[in-house]
Amino acid sequence: MDEPVLAIVVPCYNEEEVLTETMKQLTGLLADMVREKQVSEKSRILFVDDGSRDDTWKMIYKESIKGEFIRGIKLARNVGHQNALLAGLFAAKKTSDCIVSIDADLQDDIDVIQKFIQKFKEGYEVVYGVRDRRDTDTFFKRTTAEGFYKLMKKMGVNLVYNHADYRLMSRRAVEELERFGEANMFLRGIVPLIGFQSTSIYYDRKERAAGETKYPLKKMLAFALDGITSFSVTPIRMVLLVGCLSFLVSLLFGSYFLSLKFFGHTESGWTSMITSIWLIGGLQLIAIGLVGEYIGKIYKETKGRPKYIIDIDTFNLAVPQPLLGEEGAFEHDGIQERDAFSYAAGKLSETK
Ligand code: UDP
Ligand code: MG
Repeated sequence: MDEPVLAIVVPCYNEEEVLTETMKQLTGLLADMVREKQVSEKSRILFVDDGSRDDTWKMIYKESIKGEFIRGIKLARNVGHQNALLAGLFAAKKTSDCIVSIDADLQDDIDVIQKFIQKFKEGYEVVYGVRDRRDTDTFFKRTTAEGFYKLMKKMGVNLVYNHADYRLMSRRAVEELERFGEANMFLRGIVPLIGFQSTSIYYDRKERAAGETKYPLKKMLAFALDGITSFSVTPIRMVLLVGCLSFLVSLLFGSYFLSLKFFGHTESGWTSMITSIWLIGGLQLIAIGLVGEYIGKIYKETKGRPKYIIDIDTFNLAVPQPLLGEEGAFEHDGIQERDAFSYAAGKLSETK
């Protein structure tokens, strides 16, 4: 069997601080793997710039036109980690046998990729990278993340515990993934649904090599809520249950107060009234909000908008027209980007 063509997909959002190091380490690793004939020399590292506002794309672009291992895709705007990842996976699958996705911040041990490839050669179509320890994450991050996995499990969502988006997928698995047409792609939940032969590799998670987390609390909460509501209707059922319970309770109270009215004496009852108003009002708002969350999901799905839009692609050499407005253009070694791109396209197709 020929060595498999590997693509390493790296979503990047404002990662200029860590990118040089990431490029260096990944290129080094891939070069080693090619030399040791673990993977084909056609293997590539594909950086997806998720609408960064810093120099991330410039850095990717400059590396990618050298025609070595690095390639880049620039998304037209920020669409979030999951969608950026999808853009990379779908672009890479055309020319690769297997695809590894990894974060740009070097928190995940890159040497594990060699083990991924071994497993792939043994016939596994999906290999999950699972964090052994999370001591390097902050206490807050660790507890919230672990709570999240446990909650998801309770809600009946099948997640691989402590696995984030560091995994290998075969081309076949990515092709199947593409058939999941939902707007809200929560990859950790969807990949296990594909159901091909899979296995896990354990590794220690490190600290971010540089830069800050791109998942502040607000994004983390949104991510968790999305994950839950796109996979499980348990929350709606819980609301129904709470509704039934409070209905029963109110029946009991009602009959108690009625009996007081007829057989005893009634209090002016301000306290009980005001508390129950607040209680019921709160419950109703929660319920409506929750239902709204699901309706919002349906609304998004029915629109069927594209999940991402590619602006520039140095991986498959699609040259979009027009390439860039004057504002976004930049110079590379004295060549305007537009020229640099056609120059790169020529150079890259030579090396293909
Ligand atoms: N990321 C992205 N788009 C976003 C936010 C994050 O592509 O809108 C990327 C980011 O560059 C990184 C990965 O997603 O490669 C994971 O982000 P981060 O390391 O900040 O998350 P954490 O490890 O703190 O959960
Ligand atoms: Mg990280």
